[in-house]
Amino acid sequence: MSEYRIKYCQRCVMPHAKPDLHIDEEGVCNACRNFEKRKEIDWDARKNQMLEILERYRNKTGSNYDCIIPSSGGKDSTYQALRMKELGMNPLCVTSTTCKLSEIGRKNIENLKSLGFDYIEVTTNPVVRRKINKLALTQIGDISWPEHVTIFTIPVRVAVQQRVPLLVWGENSQMEYGGPATATENSVLDRRWLEEFGGLLGLRVSDLVGCDGIEKRDLVQFSYPSDEDLKNVGVTGLFLGYFMPWDQAGNALYAQAHGMTTYHKPVEGSVVNYENLDNVHMRIHDYFKFVKYGYSRTTDWVCIYVRNGRLTRSDARRMVERHEGRFPWEYLGYRLEDILKEIDMTVDDFVKVCDRFTNKKLFVCDSKGNLVKDKEGNLKRINDDNE
Ligand SMILES: [Zn+2]
Repeated sequence: MSEYRIKYCQRCVMPHAKPDLHIDEEGVCNACRNFEKRKEIDWDARKNQMLEILERYRNKTGSNYDCIIPSSGGKDSTYQALRMKELGMNPLCVTSTTCKLSEIGRKNIENLKSLGFDYIEVTTNPVVRRKINKLALTQIGDISWPEHVTIFTIPVRVAVQQRVPLLVWGENSQMEYGGPATATENSVLDRRWLEEFGGLLGLRVSDLVGCDGIEKRDLVQFSYPSDEDLKNVGVTGLFLGYFMPWDQAGNALYAQAHGMTTYHKPVEGSVVNYENLDNVHMRIHDYFKFVKYGYSRTTDWVCIYVRNGRLTRSDARRMVERHEGRFPWEYLGYRLEDILKEIDMTVDDFVKVCDRFTNKKLFVCDSKGNLVKDKEGNLKRINDDNE
């Protein structure tokens, strides 16, 4: 057996291999510490601060929108859009179409429209998109790279085109930060900020030019507007999660009460039925998180529930044991084989790519150093006891 052990947060069950996770001397991770700090926040003051910002950006003549809400029709964006409307704002919802939109995803976009919003959907060329999915999967182990890029570039591009300066994002999971709109001066986004926040994760858009026949002109939607254009419109943004306590389960309940469709059972690879319903590739994306860092969607969710006090740590451990990191044979009823066929890959090709990106330190290997898998192709984490 390997000497190496995975360290877990002793309050939730997050393993230390998660990027940017820090576990302190008391064995508690920074995500748990941040959650603890929520109690000290004066939420009334924050809400007033938000109302002031919204007032500043409200279009006083009724000739344009008051803000842009980057939307997928999922639980958080449905909540954001409804909240803004309740606060008297006139938002424009903007969807950057996912890599492979599911049937439920389509239903939820239509549901959000039907609640009374103007709506723009921007879809990038699917032929090129599939090529990028494959390149990103094989080169950086992330099939969803084009999605992560365009969910930031597209709403910002629309903000410039429609001359609507304020973007209203949801939670900012990275940091306790309200967004550039909270600054009274110099609140305009620039490319540097955007590239830092909506990062490109190890692959630059320019790297794609020349690969598999992709040309620069195929990638228009993958780039940010120029600093000059951003400044001209005064594009800025805020994160609602800074101004109101963010509760994903609560948002899901609220969105469902307003017609959002959920999956008929917990989503494969997860323990909830109300998240990541719009992109058929999502489980592949999450599985790579598991092979690289030793945790995935199940751990994410049980940790949120533990922090909220809705789940004990020992129950969370059992749920992780039962569900975490299973090989992604199917998602939302779509079979892996069929998903891969569209990007011209077989399951065997896929397994080879998975193995190449697997951090062998985190998983049980045989005496020859080969990964040990069960007959379903599942890996086993070393010290998988969350102790
Ligand atoms: Zn923790």
